Amino acid sequence: MIDLKNITDTHCHLQHERFSEDLDSVLINIEEKMAFVIVSGANILWNREAIKISSKSKNIYSTIGLHPIDAAKLSKKEFDNELKYIEDNSDLIVGIGEIGLDWHWEKDETMREIQKERFILFLKLAKKLDIPVVIHSWDAESEVLNILESEKMKKVVMHCFSGDLSELSRALNLGFYISVSTVILRSKGTRKIARDCPLDKMLLETDAPYLWLNGKRNVPWNTEVAAEKIAQIRKITTAQVLEATLKNAKRVFGI
Ligand SMILES: [Zn+2]
Repeated sequence: MIDLKNITDTHCHLQHERFSEDLDSVLINIEEKMAFVIVSGANILWNREAIKISSKSKNIYSTIGLHPIDAAKLSKKEFDNELKYIEDNSDLIVGIGEIGLDWHWEKDETMREIQKERFILFLKLAKKLDIPVVIHSWDAESEVLNILESEKMKKVVMHCFSGDLSELSRALNLGFYISVSTVILRSKGTRKIARDCPLDKMLLETDAPYLWLNGKRNVPWNTEVAAEKIAQIRKITTAQVLEATLKNAKRVFGI
């Protein structure tokens, strides 16, 4: 028997324009069906909207941060202002994210250096506030892990993790949480991660509205479908996956 109230989505973007028309009914659905959802910021506007949405509903929380491409594009002053905004609003959020490195979209060395510098500033703030970080990493997994290790980060969520199995074991050895997204329905790599990641380090996410099938809009409760797939791979029940991931999400985000 599946208890719907154990369904979580630890990373989605309900502030995306694809939710603007029916956000209220999406929020009602979440309240009826799910344990809780974490809305993630990624740019200046989305950070404010993440806080706004999470303040509307008792089972929605938020993390705020800057996607590495957005972080590197800001002037030093704009970036510092956003860091201050995060610090000033830290009692309203459950973590800093998404932050990280994106070397898929950024090939320029100078811009990559700026991404790294600003990533480290976010990490230092998270340590000061003692809250977790939610990591975006694309084609930069080993560099991201190097930085997280040298900054001695403890509370880390690897969002939409797409590293290989040796990077997975490195992240696990550092005590990090691995977030498995609905991409598991079409990615062999993600299925391997779901097979090898210990259940007590696994989280579920949609990255909604992204990462659903045929370009259709993803919704937070689709993590149930990811949980079914994980259960099938590990030969356990969906209820066990939902229970474990709920427990993990509460532990790492202090909910
Ligand atoms: Zn995201």
